[in-house]
Amino acid sequence: MQPKDTTSNTAYMGFTNSACPFMPCHPGVEREFNCLFCYCPLSALECPGPYKVFVDRNGVKRKDCTACTLPHNGYKRAWNFIQRWLERPVFWKGCEQDPERVKNAAD
Ligand code: SF4
Repeated sequence: MQPKDTTSNTAYMGFTNSACPFMPCHPGVEREFNCLFCYCPLSALECPGPYKVFVDRNGVKRKDCTACTLPHNGYKRAWNFIQRWLERPVFWKGCEQDPERVKNAAD
């Protein structure tokens, strides 16, 4: 096994599960569809995605990430995006998304 920082093989950065019955689950993905982050590692953290907030049957605020393509848009691109946001994780407190943050994520 090679440490990931010393290999040129990028297969760990993503994959596409074409057999998934939910495909395409997030409309608007332009690059390879990355299924590695199907359960987004940022779901309990602050993030720049265009999520909506809803309250589940247990009264807990959750993110509806249907409109977000950030963890799915390309293998390398999505991998780098997730790594960058995990460097300094901040727990999400259930707030609505700030449209300015979403706008800046797309820049
Ligand atoms: S909005 Fe996007 S980046 Fe944020 S938690 Fe949801 S899927 Fe992940």
